[in-house]
Amino acid sequence: MPATRPTRPRNPVARRSFGRRGRRTIGHASNIVHCDGPDSPHAFDIIPLQPRNGSLDAKCPVCRGHGQWNTEIDLISFRCKRAICDHCHGAGWIETGSDPVARADIVMTPDGYPQWVVAFDS
Ligand SMILES: [Zn+2]
Repeated sequence: MPATRPTRPRNPVARRSFGRRGRRTIGHASNIVHCDGPDSPHAFDIIPLQPRNGSLDAKCPVCRGHGQWNTEIDLISFRCKRAICDHCHGAGWIETGSDPVARADIVMTPDGYPQWVVAFDS
């Protein structure tokens, strides 16, 4: 029985043969998905629901309460490009009844100065 087990000498040439095969990919990993619209599978990934605003009644049927959706999203880094919903103008909620919807508007005062007012669309 030998007192010490002989250590195997490292072979630098053999180690080199375990390198990467093929060409190395440049840059970080990504898996970019393009969304055609709010019905695409990843359209609402990482987009929170919009808080319900005041008197608005229902979730927008187009963006389902998100107000926006991804047009492009990277499923690894989650960098994304988004589109604002033009049905609810990004609010995520819509008015379904006959209540007027308030919006900010600018009018001209009798003195000739512009002034912010709350206008109501019927
Ligand atoms: Zn919407």
